[in-house]
Amino acid sequence: MELQLRKSDTLNVVGELAAGIAHEIRNPMTALKGFIQLLQGSIKEDYSMYFNVIMSELKRIESIITEFLVLAKPQAIQYQQNDVCKIMRDTIDLISAQAMMHNVQIIAEFEENIPFIYCEPNQLKQVFINILKNAIEVMPKGGDINVNIQKTAGNQICISIRDQGCGIPQDKIKKLGEPFYTTKERGTGLGLMVSYKIIEEHQGKIDVESQVGVGTTFHITLPIERIEKEDEDEAGVQCV
Ligand code: ADP
Ligand code: MG
Repeated sequence: MELQLRKSDTLNVVGELAAGIAHEIRNPMTALKGFIQLLQGSIKEDYSMYFNVIMSELKRIESIITEFLVLAKPQAIQYQQNDVCKIMRDTIDLISAQAMMHNVQIIAEFEENIPFIYCEPNQLKQVFINILKNAIEVMPKGGDINVNIQKTAGNQICISIRDQGCGIPQDKIKKLGEPFYTTKERGTGLGLMVSYKIIEEHQGKIDVESQVGVGTTFHITLPIERIEKEDEDEAGVQCV
């Protein structure tokens, strides 16, 4: 409980700051990219390696900004009764090419008659993409990802995403969702932070089960009905 409260506070502050800064950085970044691409055509071949590094670093900045902007709560956010199974199916379709390229098979099994839940479909899609992408990335030699959706006690649904990747040591599990926590050479350490934040806003929670060398399962629990609170600031902090 204490851990969740602390994480939630950090995320709120980081989110607000990040959204503002990200918007400001985006425009000059676009200009930089454009001019570098222009220059690239008119400069000696010996320098092409430097240009590749510049472009790849610019792309990295862009992906950091894009992930941060999810926290910005744009006006388009619309909570409605939605079919999570359909949102998950659409997400799997979206990511299937990437999975195939890495020899990863995504096996989906959804319980019948999963009720619609009150949620923001684009944001949930973002969470599913982040977790599925991580699962693909930890299986460099390929493998299976099992995606299950079922109804659980307490009027909730649980979405589980299980991989056969490297696993996460127990003492590192608590670090997941912290801004910039990454073990990847080119990671941003933002995907899970954004995901935790979105699920918190949906009054749900993410639990991680993992065994090193065997694999990891992310369990996302979401309430079917949203509890209207007098003080919305506390949304997501309440946990069972
Ligand atoms: P990034 O993918 O850019 O590193 P994330 O926030 O998505 O950032 O993930 C943070 C870290 O959590 C990863 O670098 C990795 O160490 C760990 N992680 C996330 N998902 C998994 C997984 N399925 N298996 C093993 N480790 C994972
Ligand atoms: Mg990631």
